[in-house]
Amino acid sequence: MNINKVLVIGAGQMGSGIAQVMAQAGLSVYLNDISEEFITRGLKGIEKNLQRNVDKGRLSVEGRDEILGRLQGEVSLERCSQVDLVVEAVIENLEVKSKLLAKLDSLCPSETILATNTSSLPITQLASFTKRPEKVVGMHFMNPVPVMKLVEIIAGLATAPEVTKAIEELTLKLEKTPVIVNDYPGFVANRILMPMINEAIYTVYEGVATPEAVDEVMKLGMNHPMGPLALADLIGLDTCLAIMEVLHEGLGDSKYRPCPLLRNYVYAGWLGRKTGKGFYDYR
Ligand code: NAD
Repeated sequence: MNINKVLVIGAGQMGSGIAQVMAQAGLSVYLNDISEEFITRGLKGIEKNLQRNVDKGRLSVEGRDEILGRLQGEVSLERCSQVDLVVEAVIENLEVKSKLLAKLDSLCPSETILATNTSSLPITQLASFTKRPEKVVGMHFMNPVPVMKLVEIIAGLATAPEVTKAIEELTLKLEKTPVIVNDYPGFVANRILMPMINEAIYTVYEGVATPEAVDEVMKLGMNHPMGPLALADLIGLDTCLAIMEVLHEGLGDSKYRPCPLLRNYVYAGWLGRKTGKGFYDYR
């Protein structure tokens, strides 16, 4: 399966990063979102990242322009008919993703692979909203996408082995490392990471320590490059809560209950870096 043209849906922090690394690897990329404003914000972010690489002498000006030339913003889904692969990176919400996948299924040629960057939603369930479950696969990038080497590839129950293989080969072309896992709640990355973040939030909620102290303990004591609360702010607290809900419901164990403090932060709109406030203040 040759993958040359890609449509990335959702121009937020993950979608724009995915679009960037695909264009860097020589693919033609269309970047879609629900409004021109969000697409422009995503493309501007990519331009800024590439310029930083130019300034640091890691990329030539011509190289930057070539990469940008392979990227195009698209508010409509018309390009669906022309692409080999769609990667959806819209918000972590089953209803939004399932509606989108059903629509993509009706618009894309039968051979187009539909990949999802979901952090936790079951691939098998998402695939059930399409008539091509064998072509639906999880392609879970890590944040920030241009920096992080891992791509967790999730095969749903119905995913065809050649589709998993094609995504594995594409990941190598992006100069990243694929790890293939099976489809159970949270897969591997978030099954392990998110309960740790949730527990860090509980230590603040129960007055055991301040966010600064929790992060310092984990950085200095466990050699983590970033504390769990700073990481939660980077991921987005809405995304963290959505993942905990999937683990709680999908595995049915009370140890996955989201911390009430996490819920309150999300109700308050304190979602972390993207809104300027989370466990830390970025304003
Ligand atoms: P984000 O909030 O930064 O971006 C989501 C984007 O999707 C927004 O720009 C929004 O306008 C757009 N969107 C929503 N509905 C849409 C639709 N129907 N069509 C087109 N665009 C739509 O979120 P994010 O952090 O980039 O997360 C996106 C996905 O990636 C989620 O599934 C998340 O779980 C997953 N993910 C996130 C991280 C992380 O660290 N944030 C890491 C790995 C995976």
